Amino acid sequence: MNHQARSLGWTLLLLLALWAASRLLFPTAAPPTAATAPLCNPTIFVELTALRGNAPIDVEITGSWRLRNANTPAEQELHAGSGGLRGPLALTTIGIQLEAYRTKLSHLILEADGNQALRLNTYLYPGRLHIRVVSDDRSALGKSMRLSLELPLEDYVLGVVCGEMATMVPQAHAALCAQAIAARSYALYRLGQGRLLKDNTGDQVFTSTDFITEQARAAVLATRGLVLRWDGEPLPAFFHANCGGGTANAFDAAFSPVAIAPLAGVLEAACRTPLGLWEQTVTAADLDGLAQRYQLGSWLKAIAIQAVDSSGRQLQLRLIGPAEHIDVPADAVRAALHLPSTQIEDMQRLADGSLIFTGYGSGHGVGLCQNGAMRLSINGATYAEILAHYYPSAQLVPLTADLELLLP
Ligand SMILES: [Zn+2]
Repeated sequence: MNHQARSLGWTLLLLLALWAASRLLFPTAAPPTAATAPLCNPTIFVELTALRGNAPIDVEITGSWRLRNANTPAEQELHAGSGGLRGPLALTTIGIQLEAYRTKLSHLILEADGNQALRLNTYLYPGRLHIRVVSDDRSALGKSMRLSLELPLEDYVLGVVCGEMATMVPQAHAALCAQAIAARSYALYRLGQGRLLKDNTGDQVFTSTDFITEQARAAVLATRGLVLRWDGEPLPAFFHANCGGGTANAFDAAFSPVAIAPLAGVLEAACRTPLGLWEQTVTAADLDGLAQRYQLGSWLKAIAIQAVDSSGRQLQLRLIGPAEHIDVPADAVRAALHLPSTQIEDMQRLADGSLIFTGYGSGHGVGLCQNGAMRLSINGATYAEILAHYYPSAQLVPLTADLELLLP
């Protein structure tokens, strides 16, 4: 090997070493993954159920605002105010009346400029207010107002965390995070079904801005965009107050038409304590109302337990009327009689026809147990551990475009 060839060899070696060092210092960027793809914060709609009907609503906006026609593609501006708004929103024989403005249009949007909150009666709400006029046989006008908010998913989740798990316990962060992820997942699941979310227990309790806490805000921010997924879709991440010793199987409890592995139910002995035992008296009139609802006759002769799951929860109850009987899901009876849970331990008939129920737990029992989640949080569990306990085999994933595509 001559001098020139040796020199070329050393040069090549030096270049190779420099290239290797550059790979170590500046590695090639990894292809985008679900974890690095941008998070989505889709717009959602939530109905303000307490403001249904025709009672005038006191509306207040402090800054400038606009009223739009939602039935036009570009949401045509109908009216704008610069000096704030303070006045009644009402439905009259003529149509919608807001302050001095009247219209016969059936779908309006009221928005405050600059993302300000709107005050409706005594409470402040974020987002844009949709005002719809719908047919209503029970109203003297034959129609009534339906109000809903249009707002980003993350703002909605914050209102749900404060509505569903109000707490001042300092160690509640992981439980609040788990609640935020469950609420976000449930919202996507419902929206995937094309349903408008309700702000009450029909879906998830959503509170006004007045009840937002810094603790809840921190939990929503820490879990921003995180959702539970199962079988490629958002998990219907149901939750309830107290499982009373074990969570319910969603399929057995008639919450799902198909078996959902993460909602098969888990045992939780720590929730079955004497302190959790409840007793509730149901009047004879309410029992008879149940018989009439199921067309069994004018009065209810008895209730009998038909099927119990592994957590001790009733699945089917037999309602016995004077001549006929029917087996119904226990959760339907719980809802109709306003019982705390379907973990009914005993039923005692009194001489006046009323019935004393005793049992454990609070709520439908499916999914995350809020009391249990709080206990796990206080004992140092992370939100991922809490979710893995109540929704085993569900995946915790960021909400990216592929999940958002599931929305209608
Ligand atoms: Zn529990």
